[in-house]
Amino acid sequence: MAVQTPQEIAREAVKRLTARKLPPTPENFQTTYHEVAGTRPLRPFPLENLRHIGAQLPDRTPAQIRFKAQFGKAVSQHSWEDLEKALIHHLKQSMPASADGVSTTPVVSSVIEEHGLPPELREQISRIVSFSLPAVGNDDAKVIELADELIAYLRHDSHHLPTLRKIMADFAFRLSFVAEEQQHIRETLLGLLHTVFENIGAINPENPWLQGQMTALMEATQPPLSTRRLEDVERRLKGLIVKQIEAKEQALAAQRVMKETLSTFLQRLSQTADNSEHYQQRFEECAQRLESASSLAEMAPVVQDAIQSARTMALDSRRTGEELCLLRQRAQDAEQEALRLRDELDRMSEMASHDLLTGALNRKGLADVATRELSRADRGGSQPCLALLDIDDFKRLNDRFGHLKGDAALQHLARVAKSSLRPQDAVARFGGEEFVVILPDTSVPEAVEVLTRLQRELSKQLFLEGEEHILITFSAGVIQRRPDESIEDALHRADQAMYAAKRLGKNRVVAA
Ligand code: GH3
Ligand code: MG
Ligand code: MG
Repeated sequence: MAVQTPQEIAREAVKRLTARKLPPTPENFQTTYHEVAGTRPLRPFPLENLRHIGAQLPDRTPAQIRFKAQFGKAVSQHSWEDLEKALIHHLKQSMPASADGVSTTPVVSSVIEEHGLPPELREQISRIVSFSLPAVGNDDAKVIELADELIAYLRHDSHHLPTLRKIMADFAFRLSFVAEEQQHIRETLLGLLHTVFENIGAINPENPWLQGQMTALMEATQPPLSTRRLEDVERRLKGLIVKQIEAKEQALAAQRVMKETLSTFLQRLSQTADNSEHYQQRFEECAQRLESASSLAEMAPVVQDAIQSARTMALDSRRTGEELCLLRQRAQDAEQEALRLRDELDRMSEMASHDLLTGALNRKGLADVATRELSRADRGGSQPCLALLDIDDFKRLNDRFGHLKGDAALQHLARVAKSSLRPQDAVARFGGEEFVVILPDTSVPEAVEVLTRLQRELSKQLFLEGEEHILITFSAGVIQRRPDESIEDALHRADQAMYAAKRLGKNRVVAA
């Protein structure tokens, strides 16, 4: 029997649901209803869900506004076809296709096109731009102007991606010029510096200290430069200038003495010549008087005169000789004094920062290096490690081999430390048989490794007393400086770690 009315269809549908033991849900009923009626089920249209999505679509750019309108219209007309068309059209427009026509990062770029760059990314770009400016100097007004414009645009609430792209491209273009210029300026300045060093060295080629400083300066200014190396150059140059001034003063003083000596010498010489002429005349006179004398009575006063003149002449020449001797002595003394002063100055400048016995830094040298490293760390660099090491049973070594051998052991340790530590590490004699090592940009495990290597080197590089090999060992405490910690506090912690190493049996490195 053909079922006709909707009521009959509905009744039949309920019967079939019961027969199939299916629950009478709206979906089951709808499917069975169409089955009975012989019709196609209508595709359901999620109107509310789609309206909700439509309402949230962005409408900042003209393309977004257009798409939102098309989406809304398709939804209100329940048209899947129009919805499909609008979506595909919009996605095609907003995704830049790569050369082969396939979009590279469709999801990311469409999200960026739709919503712009995420605020935190924009803030990060702004910060990179403002941080990069000091690196290229503040000389180029245009690059600063472009940077300000870019930062302002990035920090603005709404932005248009093509405009942002253009501002960024303009900035990058200008920045590349400025960076190239800065690089050129740096290279030229370095070249100039080298010329200056070469010239200073050439002024006084026989001064070994000066030559040594010049070589060190040339090496320290080879690229790549770092703030640490430049600070080292600055320190050396300051030392050099002080030394130059002192050397100049000494040279002037020596010159003055030599000049005075020479002028007195010449004066004396001419006096000698004058005197000899004077005596020659007197003797000639005596000779004439003698020739014309006819009696002994006449001759006696002439002989008297001659004897007297000879005596005075001898006295004069002795005095002149003595004076010349004195002058020569004074010149020699002045020269000796100049040499002594130079040695003294060399020693003084070393003593200012270095320990006389071992050549390691002294406390003042340590304070200088520590101040530099700590302030670098406070400016945002990584924290240095500090090691305090104390020779084991040093008193026994002194007692057994004598104090001089003890001194030599300290020198040996300092020498091995200098050769086995890294160039950036600084070794200082902290007192008696205690040394401090500052290890910049180093983690605690790395610092422990460096000191363990020093222990190995000490056992390898023999320290001898006659045929006997004296083993020098030390105990060390290693710490990493904490942010804002004073050097005294950091050293105190290192000292405690060193004592822990002693308590654990000596000849070991303890990290705290
Ligand atoms: P420990 O393993 O516990 O460190 O024992 P130690 O004997 O090394 O330590 P102590 O502090 O008992 O003795 C240190 C010795 O170092 C005593 C002192 O005479 C000696 N000393 C300090 N300075 C010098 C120096 O400049 N030259 C020499 N030869 N000895 C020194
Ligand atoms: Mg000690
Ligand atoms: Mg000791």
